[in-house]
Amino acid sequence: MERIYNFSAGPSMLPLPVLEQAQKELTNYKNSGMSVMELSHRSGWFKEIIEGAEQGLRNLMKIPDDYRVLFLQGGASQQFSMVPMNLLGPSKKADYVHTGSWSKKAMKEAEKFAEVNVIVSSEDGSFTYIPEVTEDMIDEEASYVHITTNNTIEGTAFRNIPDTGDVPLVADMSSNILSEEVDVSKFGLIYAGAQKNIGPAGLTVVIIRDDLIGHADANVPAMLDYKTHSDAGSLYNTPPTFAIYMAKLVFEYIESLGGLKTMEKINREKADLLYETIENSDLFTSPVKKDSRSLMNIPFVSPSAQTDAEFLEEAQERGLETLKGHRSVGGMRASIYNAMPQEGVQALVRFMDEFEHHRN
Ligand code: PMP
Repeated sequence: MERIYNFSAGPSMLPLPVLEQAQKELTNYKNSGMSVMELSHRSGWFKEIIEGAEQGLRNLMKIPDDYRVLFLQGGASQQFSMVPMNLLGPSKKADYVHTGSWSKKAMKEAEKFAEVNVIVSSEDGSFTYIPEVTEDMIDEEASYVHITTNNTIEGTAFRNIPDTGDVPLVADMSSNILSEEVDVSKFGLIYAGAQKNIGPAGLTVVIIRDDLIGHADANVPAMLDYKTHSDAGSLYNTPPTFAIYMAKLVFEYIESLGGLKTMEKINREKADLLYETIENSDLFTSPVKKDSRSLMNIPFVSPSAQTDAEFLEEAQERGLETLKGHRSVGGMRASIYNAMPQEGVQALVRFMDEFEHHRN
């Protein structure tokens, strides 16, 4: 069977050359006589893998030297708790920008530890836009400001990263990390679940500025303290070894294409093609405000749930899969992460056009 175009929001497509390399090395990694899955995390082979993964990410994102890269577990959802458990200062205050379902979940966890202040929200517009964040909104006593750079369900993304002055900016970058160039120095902490642009599920990447490590209360469990993992080079306990190996291959693959600059160009082309098709259509519409559009997750709707269902069924017959919108918003959503080839988006827009104009 041919591979399909999988428009899933995550876990999502991985680059085929990466899967093929993993397949080649699956039963005998570099003459070790073992699979990466069977290697000790304390072995020389794995040391090379985890160090290579870190270096690969550092190169791609141009991560400054005063930031640590941590390879953790627990998903982005665990970061919803770890961020307040580690970063809250004596004021116990944290500022949140509310842009959708994931920021809501992040705030709900933070409220268990912090006085959460929603400094601005786009709830009034059903999260179809990214509100402007200005420095005067920020409480100087806040320990951090939290944003969700890309809202996976709503299909919005920050086109400009807000300036938060001396208050560290914390970003959930789960669904757009590595999709475009980013100035890491604007952030105090970046976190992302791996299962969209990095690799398989089970790995969570945290990029944290040195001075934000080591402030957790004494009663915070070791596993939830950034310092534990930073001191141990992400080897305090057994890390998700195979997922880290896959991430390393993905980082190397992106580098071989030309890094994030090239990725951004390709991602813009893919997204532009799809938005253009939606704009030119008399059947499909996008709920998202133009200046807030995500390059990664593109929701669109037809006038009726019945037509949506027909579209989804026929799309699937052509190998265009997992296009159903999130259950909370309905309609369609095309997640076109880094590994979605341009041909996949071209096939989708061809089908959209055909569905609209040539149906009997
Ligand atoms: N934040 C965002 C923006 C997401 O898209 C997701 C997952 N789709 C999460 C957080 C939760 O991630 P995880 O499943 O890794 O906990």
